[in-house]
Amino acid sequence: MSVLQRLFGFHGGVKPDYHKDASTSLPIAVAPTPTFLVIPLHQSIGGPPRPLVKAGERVLKGQRIGGADGNASSAVHASASGTVVAVEMRLMPHTSGLSAMCVVIETDGRDEWVANQPFDYRSATPTQIRDYLRDAGVVGLGGAVFPTYLKLNAGKQGKLDTLVLNGAECEPFITCDDVLMRERAAAILKGAAIMREMLAAGKVLIGIEDNKPEAIAAMEAAARAANAAAADAAIEVVAVPTRYPAGGAKKLIRVLTGIEVPHGERSTDYGVQCFNVGTAYAIHEAIELGRPLISRIVTVAGNVKQARNYEVLFGTPMQDLIALCDKLPDSDRVIMGGPMMGLLMPGEDVPVVKATNCVLVGSKKLFPPPPPEMPCIRCGECAKACPADLQPFEMYWFSRAKIFGKAQEYNLFDCIECGCCAYVCPSRIPLVDYYRFAKSEIWAREVEKEAADVARERYEFRLLREEREKQEKAAKLAAKTAAGREKAAAAVAEAAKPAATPEEEAKKALIAAALERARAEKSLVHPENTADLTPEQQAEVSAIEARRAEIREMAKPQLRQDD
Ligand code: SF4
Ligand code: SF4
Repeated sequence: MSVLQRLFGFHGGVKPDYHKDASTSLPIAVAPTPTFLVIPLHQSIGGPPRPLVKAGERVLKGQRIGGADGNASSAVHASASGTVVAVEMRLMPHTSGLSAMCVVIETDGRDEWVANQPFDYRSATPTQIRDYLRDAGVVGLGGAVFPTYLKLNAGKQGKLDTLVLNGAECEPFITCDDVLMRERAAAILKGAAIMREMLAAGKVLIGIEDNKPEAIAAMEAAARAANAAAADAAIEVVAVPTRYPAGGAKKLIRVLTGIEVPHGERSTDYGVQCFNVGTAYAIHEAIELGRPLISRIVTVAGNVKQARNYEVLFGTPMQDLIALCDKLPDSDRVIMGGPMMGLLMPGEDVPVVKATNCVLVGSKKLFPPPPPEMPCIRCGECAKACPADLQPFEMYWFSRAKIFGKAQEYNLFDCIECGCCAYVCPSRIPLVDYYRFAKSEIWAREVEKEAADVARERYEFRLLREEREKQEKAAKLAAKTAAGREKAAAAVAEAAKPAATPEEEAKKALIAAALERARAEKSLVHPENTADLTPEQQAEVSAIEARRAEIREMAKPQLRQDD
């Protein structure tokens, strides 16, 4: 039974047209494996995984191809068996049109799995379970793709009062959680049981918007069975009023428990943690079946003949899914996600990733171009609609004027980009575009500042190192000079010593006098320049030469001794 009396309201929100029926008339189908899978390595919040494969390598389905690298990183796996044909930059499913590193696999149609081993989480430590889920690539499938292992932490108290499962799925057109709950309710609750055990949570509340009666019925039946098996009544399914964005984690916590988690704080500090129902299913698959996250349910809807939900391997081109649903000729765009929070894709050939809950095909008829933007009239309608209690028009003014510091003062980063403000704005101002612009500018400046700080630190370190080397050189030179002086002083002292015998003393004096005479004579004339001399001068030079030879002869033993 749903428990309506427990519900609390939340500020703001809107009631757009939901367009959900078109994609729920058929059960989930499995999308065919494409010939080429383009699997981006970076598919979740946190650091990009490092590639573990090279071109030419054969890979099996479920084999890790990207290893978690750094604190908040999460692994990525081959979605099918085949051969890696490239590890290269490819276009990402993002409005920016930027590329990122991808592993391209040519599939072999054999669908060969790696050996799947269930994980015995009951005999593992919490750290081991978290490491296992990180390496299994399990991330939040509600759209935020936050690594699940980081959220499986009961906070300061080591236990929680409430584990919330989010099945609200409030965004128009998207029904992937709805059909998952209809068809795989028991498996979702098995995943929830694992999370409950890890978080020591007292109870489990499953919030589902009341426009999904089939999902509510299926989950209630599964909850009754699970409660009976556990002999308790810990799991409750709660139908919540349909109002966008009731599926925001903080909004759903507020509606189900009455707890208002303040800006910048964690819900675990208030005894609550919230996971998407798809994430609970992925945890069950990873732990009890040993299957890493390689696929998800994706709604294909919008301007197509037959909207439907498919189980899709990550890396499958969106155009393959759109072809399955037969897009209409006037289609002019593809959006990943819903019309309120979705991202316009740079093309149809971008791959399905973990964040892809919906591939929405658009046309001018389905999404008419908005009338021209008019000036803000300060009517305050945006503030009334904002579920995050912000002042959207103030953030708009400062974002537009590029006074980003003031925009931040108005809590720009608490904006969940739900689009309610733009939806109600009578001036048709695309407010969320301004907020996204301001956020990306602030992030870019932060990155630039960090890079400048690193460069400055490196420069200062280089200056320090050069100064140290200069000082070391000066010290070495001073030491060398001092050693030279000591040596010279020692030589003088040695020369001042008296000779051992009077004969040697006399001989030394004789040698010194002769050397002095020779130096004087050498300064007068050089034997090689005798050609121009008179015969008398030549005779004198010969005499000098003879005396030099005599002196050298006398000096020989003494010089050898000095050597
Ligand atoms: S709703 Fe639009 S016109 Fe009204 S205050 Fe907000 S931004 Fe301005
Ligand atoms: S987009 Fe941001 S500012 Fe606008 S209503 Fe949503 S949370 Fe508020």
